[in-house]
Formats: sequence, structure tokens, C-alpha cells
Amino acid sequence: MNVFKIESSEPVVSEKHSDAYAIQMTLRDSVTLSGTGLHSGRETSVAIHPAEPDTGIVLTDGTHSVPALASNVVDTSRGTSIGLNGDRVRTVEHLMSALSGMGVDNAVVEVNGPEMPALDGSARLYVDAIQAAGLVGLEAARRPVVIDEPIYVHHNGSFILAVPAPHLSITYVLDYDHPLIGSQTASYIPSENDFAKEIAPARTFVLYEEVAALLNDGLSRGGSIENVIVIWQDRMSSDLRFPDELARHKIMDMVGDIFLCGGALQADVLAVKSGHTLNVEFAKEVERVRANKAQGDLF
Ligand SMILES: [Zn+2]
Repeated sequence: MNVFKIESSEPVVSEKHSDAYAIQMTLRDSVTLSGTGLHSGRETSVAIHPAEPDTGIVLTDGTHSVPALASNVVDTSRGTSIGLNGDRVRTVEHLMSALSGMGVDNAVVEVNGPEMPALDGSARLYVDAIQAAGLVGLEAARRPVVIDEPIYVHHNGSFILAVPAPHLSITYVLDYDHPLIGSQTASYIPSENDFAKEIAPARTFVLYEEVAALLNDGLSRGGSIENVIVIWQDRMSSDLRFPDELARHKIMDMVGDIFLCGGALQADVLAVKSGHTLNVEFAKEVERVRANKAQGDLF
């Protein structure tokens, strides 16, 4: 069983994230979660600590630290991995999603193991932990990630298109040639939807036909029907939490991967059949366009 521990006996409050917050937020207290890593199958734990303004999200093994940015991603096969001191921390996307969705701008994430715990395959327990720890405002203005031109990345019929907008919105189109999946579209607008209730609980899924290949590749060793929805041609391993849970999970992944561009993105995003590889390429493109713009502004 996965449990989280609050490292404080003080009463804590949770504040719902909204675009109305103009100040940066961090956790009120540290919080620890543990469980099995989806791919490594190893027991792993993660502690999320409060951090100073303008820290962003930083991963640490206790000795070395690295910012959780797309430029530090080293692998995107069935999850997003960030390089840390020559090693990698696997499957950071659900925690990144929970931090972004709950409006946490700054946190130090201390990992003890090669991978984030899979928990129930969704971001729900990460959100519960963040809510239990509570959020506090910092004396620093939030610096949203603003784009001033459309950004488009694509690969093999999948694409992500983002256009400038005053707030974030994400529409995701999933399309599988599979009798139980087919085409699903889901949308998420942080100012209108409740991330904790509507997006965070959506779980990871895998087609039964993919399971053997994943295990062969050394992935999904910690996968079980406790943390993954397995989909056969005619049935699923559990009842769905939402009719469009699969598309919602893809949005949850995107929220986490997009956060790797270094802050709260303000754009209308349309994603069609994208996965971690394209999501991270998109976040890198946002980083690149903004770096070029900053360079141009100097002259
Ligand atoms: Zn996921």
C-alpha cells in the first residue's frame, strides 16, 4: 500500500490553484510518498520540499541537483526521464503534472531510487499529498511562460499546436484503431476545471498486446492492474473512473511534460495523438523560442 506522511503536525490548508494567483507558490511543509516504480519495479520514495522563490522545480538525490526542464530530459520511452548526475530519474510526468495542476511554482523534489513511485497509475495521490501539505504564497511575482507566436511540432501524424493566449487550455485528441478505444477528445482549462477532481485521477493504460514487448524491453516491471489499466480487445482490467479516462490521462501527462518548459504556459494547445517524446520536443521548442526572443530583446 502506498501511504504518504506529513512531516508536520500543524494544521494545513490547501488553496486551489487559479490563474488569479499573481504570486509564486510553494508547499507549506515537506511531504513524502513511497511505492513501486512502474518500469523498474523497485521500491522508491520521493520527498517534496518547499523552496525559495524562482527555484522552479528541482530534482535532487541529496547531493546533486538538476532543474526539471525539457533540456535535461534524457529519455522519453513510455515516460519522461530526467538525467541526474549521470543517472536517470524515470517517470517524472505524473508528479510534474500534480505540481503544475495544483499551482506549485517552486519545490525541491528529493528522489530516493531510480524512478518516481507509480502509486495508482494516476496523479491523484501526488495531489492528495500536495493538498495535505498545503500551499503558501511567496513574495515574488509569478512569471508565466508566454509565447508570442504559434509553436507547432509534429511526427508521424501526431502533432501539437500552441497559439498565444492569456491562459492555458489543452485539448487532446486520442485515436486508436481498437474496438474499446477509438477516438476520444478531452479538454482542460485550469481556470474552469478542477485539476484535482477531473484530471489527476485518470490512470495510465496499456494495450495487452504491448505488455510482452514492454517487459522484453525492461519496462513495466512494476506494472500491475493496481497501477495500470490493461486493455484487451474485449475488456479492460478495471472499470473506468471517467468514460474518457484515457484521453484525460493523456492531458495529465501533457500538463506534466509541458511544465518542463520552466513555468506555467499561457497558450491554447491542441494535441493530436502526442506522447512523451512529442510533448518534450514541444517543451524544448518553447524553451528555444523564448531563449531566442530573450536574445533578440538584448539588441
Ligand atoms: Zn502517464
